[in-house]
Amino acid sequence: MAETAVPREDLAALLRWYVEQGLDEAIGEEAIDRLAPPPPAVAAVPRPARPMSSRPPAPAPRAPVPLESPQLVEDARALAERCTSLAELEAAVRGFEGCALKRTAKNTVFADGTSGAPVMIVGEAPGADEDRLGKPFVGVSGQLMDRMMAAIGLTRSGGFYITNILFWRPPGNRTPTLAEQAMCLAFTRRHIELAAPKLLVLAGGVSAKAVLDTTEGIMRLRGKWASYRLSDGTELPTMPTFHPAYLLRTPASKRQSWQDLLAIDRKLKELGIR
Ligand code: URA
Repeated sequence: MAETAVPREDLAALLRWYVEQGLDEAIGEEAIDRLAPPPPAVAAVPRPARPMSSRPPAPAPRAPVPLESPQLVEDARALAERCTSLAELEAAVRGFEGCALKRTAKNTVFADGTSGAPVMIVGEAPGADEDRLGKPFVGVSGQLMDRMMAAIGLTRSGGFYITNILFWRPPGNRTPTLAEQAMCLAFTRRHIELAAPKLLVLAGGVSAKAVLDTTEGIMRLRGKWASYRLSDGTELPTMPTFHPAYLLRTPASKRQSWQDLLAIDRKLKELGIR
């Protein structure tokens, strides 16, 4: 067996760490030519010069572009900031090649519902149904979300606009890496600005933590009005609430979600929207 300078247990620990960080897919930006000859050894014993007619040395294999590069997050932010309409933003997201999730997803899932509606809901990430159909919240948890919103008189046709932090389904529904979240969040922040809702609903802990930039969990955040500051300084009333997928697993928590829905209904009335 080939000898390696790195002990096996260190390599195993490194792999475990990758998996914990969500790097569980063997996918790189560039195909790796594993048959290419290795780069010349640094301390190689000098050999006699080749005759001029011999083949040129093979190029060293190219290092894959790091998908976790902070530059990609900056690129996403700059691109999003240049967009002045939802249509431009959607085109920018669809054309963005910096997020590894796009390579394994079937569709880009941008938004559904009515743009310009008073309520904007931000969830976590598309699941298998959303990936297949290219629309957010169309699976079982989306159907529950629709029924919950309908209970306070809000529907996709006029009452709310809905999206996710992530525009692409993470393979196997794995937890997105921080870099993937940061890239998509740059677009989502612009998405909120351009959709200009009167009130924001954050469905689930991942969405609430990311949008509100907090480490506080959903158990503490839900049911309390938070404020999301837009770039012009406007404070947008924001309600973090349980994700419908959690409610499907934990029906007893629906009682608390109903309180959150009633609070949203009251706020809309206070704002003179209904
Ligand atoms: N869960 C989400 O957070 N978003 C979807 O679009 C579907 C399920």
